[in-house]
Amino acid sequence: MHTKLFIPGPVDVRPEVLEQMSKPMIGHRSKEASHLQRRISDNLRKLFYTENEILLSTTSGSGLMEGSIRSCTKKRAACFSVGAFGTRWYDMAIANNIPADLYEAELGQPTTVEMVDKALATGKYDLITVTHNETSTGIMNPVAEIGVLLKEKYPEIVFCVDAVSSAAGYKIEVDAWGIDVCITSTQKALGLPPGLAICTFSKKAYESAKQVKFRGFYLDLVKLYDTIQKKDYQYPSTPSLSHMYALDYQLGCIMEEGLDQRFARHAEMADYVRAWAEKNFELFAPEGFRSNTVTAIKNTKEISVGGLNKELARRGYAVSNGYGKMKEKTFRIAHMADYKIQDLQELIKQIDDILGL
Ligand SMILES: *Cc1c(COP(=O)(O)O)cnc(C)c1O
Repeated sequence: MHTKLFIPGPVDVRPEVLEQMSKPMIGHRSKEASHLQRRISDNLRKLFYTENEILLSTTSGSGLMEGSIRSCTKKRAACFSVGAFGTRWYDMAIANNIPADLYEAELGQPTTVEMVDKALATGKYDLITVTHNETSTGIMNPVAEIGVLLKEKYPEIVFCVDAVSSAAGYKIEVDAWGIDVCITSTQKALGLPPGLAICTFSKKAYESAKQVKFRGFYLDLVKLYDTIQKKDYQYPSTPSLSHMYALDYQLGCIMEEGLDQRFARHAEMADYVRAWAEKNFELFAPEGFRSNTVTAIKNTKEISVGGLNKELARRGYAVSNGYGKMKEKTFRIAHMADYKIQDLQELIKQIDDILGL
């Protein structure tokens, strides 16, 4: 039985998209491969509202998170965290011997412009990492506002943003917001199987990275950038061409749907789930900082989240329990990628039925 996934990645992938992955291989040094990768990059530039270069990596999103903090930090990184994924970036820095400090918001609260300003005023840093959409808590951070602060007061700082669970489900204007490296992976709002990471890469980030002596090898962003310039969008090592077929196809579908329509569809699904959650439970994220792709719900009725998921599984659905310590204290419903409002209505009907709401 096909389980309809309402977990924040991997998401359900449409059969037509999956079919793309069974197409025959082409040589990764062929003209065809160049065309494929160029078309993907051109469409991704539209999706991210940027003129910067696009880099792909045959890893999950974490690959480019690690690659960016290692490649681009010359002096010291400030990592802002509102949950598990924000802290992951700090852990990656430490594991790579990159000097870094962790700035954690209070649980359930966003990263604020004031927090970033205070940290950067010390003059210790040349790079910051911020999570746009924290999947573990359903918080969306004010990345545009942080971008304004950087433009006005700290224009030399390299601004790295984890948009893994929001890109393609929320309008992220990379150039207008001043983001230097904006990262996503395929298995979230893009609606593809896991296996590729994607990032935008600014000239500023590139110039900064060029001054870093030890950038590693496979995830060296300078090497990825230089190679695609020299070899017409080809990569230093063999990429997952199957994922690229699917990504190319899916980006075509996304452009056909229309970016504004796609973001509006996500907003509509989010509004619907939030209204249901507020009627029956409480929302975990504070007003104004709520994610449009995943909703974290406080388990105020003290239902058994494990029990709910067991019964949902029997009926062919899955939602997520809370992350880590919040396993039974919250639960999460993802509303991203290619689902429509009707899919969420169908899920909520099942939950209402199971819980007797
Ligand atoms: C899923 C996720 C990641 C990790 O991405 P992978 O593709 O699993 O490596 C990082 N950050 C956020 C916010 C995520 O939701």
